This record gives sequence, C-alpha cells and structure tokens, in this order.
Amino acid sequence: MSYWRNLTTKIYNSLRSTGSSVSLNQIPSNKYNVRPVKTAEELINEVKPVEVTSNTVGCDGGNGPLGHPMVYINLDSHEPQPCGYCGIRFVQKKGHHHH
Ligand SMILES: [Zn+2]
Repeated sequence: MSYWRNLTTKIYNSLRSTGSSVSLNQIPSNKYNVRPVKTAEELINEVKPVEVTSNTVGCDGGNGPLGHPMVYINLDSHEPQPCGYCGIRFVQKKGHHHH
C-alpha cells in the first residue's frame, strides 16, 4: 500500500513543481485500480479461433489457469466450435476442398 502512497506523493510533488495548484485529495485514489470492463466471455469472443487442419482437435486448456481434462472437439461443420471447458474456439482451416 505504501508503494501507491509514495507514487501519489510523487505525482503530487511533480504537479506542485510545475506550478499547478492541486490538493492531494483531488487525485482520485482509484485511478490506479483500473479493472477490466469486459467479462471473460467477451474477451474470449475477441480471440481469433485457433485454426487446425484436422477435423478434430484435442483441447486441454494448456498449462495455464484454464487447464482442464483433454476433450476432443469435432470441427466437421467448418464453423468455430468453442471448447466446453475453457471456451477457446477452434475452427478447421479452409483449404481442404471437398469438391
Ligand atoms: Zn479447452
């Protein structure tokens, strides 16, 4: 906590040295506690689906906090399919022409 207090004091001092008249109370204390305004679901939807060349893909969420048991996702529809565990989307890469 003292880190933020020191930073605020630093900003205050630098503002004062430029001649600005600012009170320490005028610096919003929540300025440095910015929270993401997006939900996890919205963030995932912004991530481009992972392109794979096969019609099935196994997902275990990687080794991060999203890790989960391996599941296999069918991509025959060529539409992005989300993993039921971690929400990462996979899509079969176009280029395999079945004409
Ligand atoms: Zn997954």
